[in-house]
Amino acid sequence: MADKKYLICIDSDGCAMDTMNSKHNRCFGPYLIREWGLENWETSILKRWNEVNLYTLTRGINRFQGLYRALEEVAEKYTPIDGLEDLRQWVENTPELSNDSLEREIAKTDSHILKKALAWSETVNKGVEALEEREKRPFPGVRESLAYARDFAELAVVSSANRQAVLDEWGAHGLMGYMDAVMAQDAGSKARCIRELAKKGYDRDRILMVGDALGDYKAAQENGVFFYPILACREAESWQEFREEGGPRFRDGDYGGAYQKEVLEAFMDNLK
Ligand SMILES: [Mg+2]
Repeated sequence: MADKKYLICIDSDGCAMDTMNSKHNRCFGPYLIREWGLENWETSILKRWNEVNLYTLTRGINRFQGLYRALEEVAEKYTPIDGLEDLRQWVENTPELSNDSLEREIAKTDSHILKKALAWSETVNKGVEALEEREKRPFPGVRESLAYARDFAELAVVSSANRQAVLDEWGAHGLMGYMDAVMAQDAGSKARCIRELAKKGYDRDRILMVGDALGDYKAAQENGVFFYPILACREAESWQEFREEGGPRFRDGDYGGAYQKEVLEAFMDNLK
């Protein structure tokens, strides 16, 4: 049985940690331009990259799905992209959208575009690792929110980032001491992480998932638990509302119904 009666699951990238904007603005987008030599259309391609990956309902999609979408659009609007069909086939059919799986496909097909996709993805990883600490900070109000919530709930990171990155990023800011568990990429999908954590024995209406992307909401939905959105570009405000309204309502059993509906609508509107 759980020590406390409440469980709050918290996503990391773009929710607790202000990492998504710098990763996309400094690494994903610019490296795409460089790898495919798209400098002529840089401004409009980067704008679209950020719309898809940061500011609309596709926020947080897998990097390779994002890459395929971007290159497909480039081919339609600006210039042909060699081998695009190979990339589409792989993205749509691979059981796992990862560098490892991409390497295995390259070994089989020797596809030029897949090699470029891998080079891009590896450069992105190096670039993200090299981002300075100040570009990987928690959003304002996160620490206060964890301190507040810890009084009545067990707290878990539920993230699809790799485990070490989560431990490093949260640890660097002294946030690990607030957390009871870390469930990351190696623990499976976010829905699975919530399901595993729930096995400690909480009532479903005493579990809350806090996240910034549609995938977080879907993971909550799959488990029949509540969802609290951190709105992109309004993160500090969202965390403040969490302490002042969302958290207290959740604790007092007053979260479901009208309030859940209201915050969900604000979330969907914000990603239109
Ligand atoms: Mg996120």
